[in-house]
Amino acid sequence: MDPSSLTPFDNFSLQRRKNRTAAVIWMPVMNGATFIGLPVLIWVRGVEWAHAWLFLAFFTASSMAITMGYHRFFAHATFKSNRFIEFLLLFFGAGAYEESGLKWACMHRRHHQFTDTDKDPYNIKRGFFYAHMGWFMFYKQSINYDNVKDLEKSPLVMHQHRHFQSWALVSGVVLPLGIGLATGSWLSALLWTVPAKITLVGHSAFFINSFAHSFGSRPYDRTVSARDNWVGAFLTNGEGYHNFHHAFPQDYRNGIRWYHWDPTKWAIWALSKAGWARDLRRTSPERIRAARLAVEALDKTPAETASAAL
Ligand SMILES: [Zn+2]
Ligand SMILES: [Zn+2]
Repeated sequence: MDPSSLTPFDNFSLQRRKNRTAAVIWMPVMNGATFIGLPVLIWVRGVEWAHAWLFLAFFTASSMAITMGYHRFFAHATFKSNRFIEFLLLFFGAGAYEESGLKWACMHRRHHQFTDTDKDPYNIKRGFFYAHMGWFMFYKQSINYDNVKDLEKSPLVMHQHRHFQSWALVSGVVLPLGIGLATGSWLSALLWTVPAKITLVGHSAFFINSFAHSFGSRPYDRTVSARDNWVGAFLTNGEGYHNFHHAFPQDYRNGIRWYHWDPTKWAIWALSKAGWARDLRRTSPERIRAARLAVEALDKTPAETASAAL
């Protein structure tokens, strides 16, 4: 094929099998500390509430920085904001230890471009565990930054990308652990503010690629595995209305009804009311209705379709 006819996305090569040493070691350690170490400590010594609240504050900031920041702001540009908010999203996003905002957005745009194919980094067709964690623990994913040229124009994004380990260390370890050490015992501070926070923020994001592509309904697009599920929404800060999101990725909302659990949408809306977010992008009700009707028509018999048209 003539190379000049390639689109930037054709340049993506496939992942290759490789044990990622850091992830293979750290994921069991962090999960063990979270799901065994912390409960044992609480059983023996009880809860140090200062640390539980500290966990909640940093969990909220970090998980929101992933869903509102990495996902809806950087990867999909569903709204505009200011430099200060951009900094906070990059700072607390780094603390989740899910790579830089640039790399995350690059992989995520590729997920939307190639959903359910070999070029989808979290391809659910390779199984739930692969889509959840296997894709980064046991595979090296190829990276091509051609699809994030818009983000490369931001000095903040590029600084976080180039100095990611420093950003992550300060945001994910030094700051929460430092406050924790000042407010109680070191072991409680460590377990609550580092492994528990990073592990649970991680699983919350990983569920978007695994759970939200496995369980639920597909009211807007039957051609992709993405599903709408309120349980998934609770697990992922509102990202569980994933079929809608794949159908309309430029919409700042994932749950479009007022009763849909979507704290990320509410936070973006609140920021806009405070004047710190603007140009929130919404899909028109007509387009949403047309997508829903097209899917519903798939379930109708030819006779029902004909009578509905009369
Ligand atoms: Zn998806
Ligand atoms: Zn997305």
